[in-house]
Amino acid sequence: MRATAALLEQPGQPFVLTEVDLEDPRPDEVLVRVAAVGVCGTDLEFAGFFPTPALLGHEGAGIVEKVGAQVTSVRPGDHVAMSFTSCGTCALCLTGSPAYCRSFDAVNFSGRRPDGSTAVTHGGLEVNAHFLGQSSFASHVVAPERAVVWIDPSWDLLRAGPFGCGFQTGAGGVLNVLRPRPGSSIAVFGVGAVGVAAVIAASLSGCEVIVAVDVNTAKLGAARGFGATHCVDSSAEGAAGQLADLVPEGFDFVIDTTGREDVLRTAVEALGPLGHAGVIGVGPSETMSFDWRSILNGRTVTGIVAGSSLPRLFLPQLLELNAGGRFPVEKMITYFPFEQINEAVAAVRSGSVGKAVLTF
Ligand SMILES: [Zn+2]
Ligand SMILES: [Zn+2]
Repeated sequence: MRATAALLEQPGQPFVLTEVDLEDPRPDEVLVRVAAVGVCGTDLEFAGFFPTPALLGHEGAGIVEKVGAQVTSVRPGDHVAMSFTSCGTCALCLTGSPAYCRSFDAVNFSGRRPDGSTAVTHGGLEVNAHFLGQSSFASHVVAPERAVVWIDPSWDLLRAGPFGCGFQTGAGGVLNVLRPRPGSSIAVFGVGAVGVAAVIAASLSGCEVIVAVDVNTAKLGAARGFGATHCVDSSAEGAAGQLADLVPEGFDFVIDTTGREDVLRTAVEALGPLGHAGVIGVGPSETMSFDWRSILNGRTVTGIVAGSSLPRLFLPQLLELNAGGRFPVEKMITYFPFEQINEAVAAVRSGSVGKAVLTF
């Protein structure tokens, strides 16, 4: 079939709206008509170097149109959100940790199915697709069943897509990995969409001190509305000192969403004894360094992928909290028509929107 797609024809160039050819779903795949797709920082990172022609997009939600013969979890007409995929057979998948699947990069970032094929072609050329189990910058997606999560049709489909990546990453880092006890202190470094989801999760967990740290004062102001008890402007002098003033014994937990070496160092060094740092952001720095004494006294630094989530369990839990008003991430969303994908990308890059979602 033909689908409308926002294709990346050259790395680093704007997306180009065009028609692509999409194969029918294979026995273990699902054809989804996309209703809305979020724009995530990871799309923008990969747009800089992914082999082209490429189809990115990995926060899609929509309606099932067709299923392969082996698919049992969804039927045509079902509402679904999509998330990362995994092999389903390695020891880590079988023990409930698909975010750490041994084939994670191969099945999510190779641009191909595991057998090397692609479901998407453009003018006869093979398109690198199957990005994070989907490639949903398109009107239709052929996704493996493992990447597809049934969601209640009473939930708002247009806001469901970012739960498959950004919101699950931030919330899962707190709820699945750090698991703060009520009364804990936590600092969240970087309060874009991922960081705000972490702030809300910390608030749901009963954290008493929740510090938002960012260079963007508008984002800091917004973070207060999501449960941050204090804000630290990290562009100002002495951010580390401000953190130490707020929690002199050191934080129980910190989360870094920035992937920036200087921020990571400040975050880890803000921990108290037995403190736990969650590193959940993909950012510009390739290394991190800190005074080695800052991880003495039982401190832990954990790298976390996709909130360590089991999407089929965790996404419906978050969406139900959202439907009940307790995980109000929709306040962060700005909607753009799909045709305005490049405007949405510019808004994400400039930080002028919390979360951009493209609608069809
Ligand atoms: Zn696996
Ligand atoms: Zn993402």
